[in-house]
Amino acid sequence: MNNIFNKISNLEKLIGNTPLVEILFKYKGKEMKIYTKLEYYNYTGSIKDRMALYILKKAYMDNRIKEHDTIIETTSGNTGISFAAIGTYLGHTVDIYMPDWMSDERKNLLKSFNSKLHLVSKNDGGFLKCISITNEIKSTSKNVFLPCQFSNKDNATAHYLSTGPEIWNSLQKIGVKPSAFVAGVGTGGTIMGIGKYLKEKNPNMKIYPLEPSNSPTLSTGIQVHEHRIQGIIDEFIPPILNLNSLNSIINVDDGDSIIMAQMLSKKLGLGVGISSGANFLGAIKVLELTNNKATVITVFADDNKKYLSTDLAKDELIKKGFISSYVELLCLNRI
Ligand code: PMP
Repeated sequence: MNNIFNKISNLEKLIGNTPLVEILFKYKGKEMKIYTKLEYYNYTGSIKDRMALYILKKAYMDNRIKEHDTIIETTSGNTGISFAAIGTYLGHTVDIYMPDWMSDERKNLLKSFNSKLHLVSKNDGGFLKCISITNEIKSTSKNVFLPCQFSNKDNATAHYLSTGPEIWNSLQKIGVKPSAFVAGVGTGGTIMGIGKYLKEKNPNMKIYPLEPSNSPTLSTGIQVHEHRIQGIIDEFIPPILNLNSLNSIINVDDGDSIIMAQMLSKKLGLGVGISSGANFLGAIKVLELTNNKATVITVFADDNKKYLSTDLAKDELIKKGFISSYVELLCLNRI
């Protein structure tokens, strides 16, 4: 057991403390800036490493997981990759349930980190079916551990304890006080955990959850359509998310998000995933809402390597009203 905690504390040195960068740009000719955490610097390349490691550490501390238990989780990708890599390293077998329409890179990565992949088609019930299968396994099997990322409060706590303080402390060093945070919602762990910490530090802090305008599940409560911002808005409102404690919901188009992510890569060398493009657009919307007065923070959850077989690597049709059409990226500074 001591060995497990040694391994966990070593992994803690490889997860978190990601770079915070300031991005300077023009929007409709006006100079603006935002701050964002480059979360692809984590162990397996995404923000989800933070919560996967914390959930396992906490479960070990509370004796809710035993060595060699099988970890079983439903995930749209990044969470599975984190649990697969971390769980395998800690000596667990990792079974991942995932909708079959996720990118091939995600599926191959999951296998490369030694997890057993179970794919469920839309016809067979998709994401919600994955969750019901994993819950059923839990009620009928011994020696399994279900992280339950959508309802596990440790998911948000991971961000409350790490990402939030990192953002606040980095900005403090340069005398900047954040006033708004925006992030796309998957499980809601990021928005709830970072939001809670920053709000405690600055009670006037505004916290904006983000969703795709093509599938506004947070606004409507149901899955309205398919969308291409993998990692956010699955098919329901996650239990961790408390919309009443947050500010208004921001929505952005998935095509606009793809173009924005491509621009970040082409102009600044930030090879980010689609949800990062969406979060950048969300930050611009918040700046617009506040007449460019807010100090807006967001996160770039992962990089572009998982999306090279998707529309992110193709020419996207520019539609009227896209925010990205009015953006000129200037430069970035490491804080
Ligand atoms: N972006 C990407 C690429 C993700 O994988 C996730 C997590 N599913 C998110 C954003 C949203 O993060 P959270 O689950 O903490 O809301």
